[in-house]
Amino acid sequence: MDLATAAALMVPGDLSLDELVRRPSWHRGAACRGRGTAVFFPSPGDSLAAARAVCADCPVQAECLSTAVADPGLQGFWGGTSERDRRMIRREGRTPGGTGAGRARLSDRATA
Ligand code: SF4
Repeated sequence: MDLATAAALMVPGDLSLDELVRRPSWHRGAACRGRGTAVFFPSPGDSLAAARAVCADCPVQAECLSTAVADPGLQGFWGGTSERDRRMIRREGRTPGGTGAGRARLSDRATA
């Protein structure tokens, strides 16, 4: 029996496997899907260039960023932003996604 079949038998209601593992439906289109997670959880001081490059071409970046900004406890690089970037977005009350100028101000260094 495959995992999806097993999950369908064990989960009441209409929960999908994505819901079961708490991945929103937009994640199906994520550019990072199937990639390793190391680049999205860098050590302090590491460059975020690789993560930014993946996110820059992601078709669901807006959804990802909105989700990440709405969850202050979320760690790592999401929606093209570091934790520090998202704190700045919340502090400034900016709309996730912002403008090109706003995004250009975001740091390129990982911070805890
Ligand atoms: S924006 Fe980045 S972290 Fe978010 S789903 Fe896309 S590739 Fe993954």
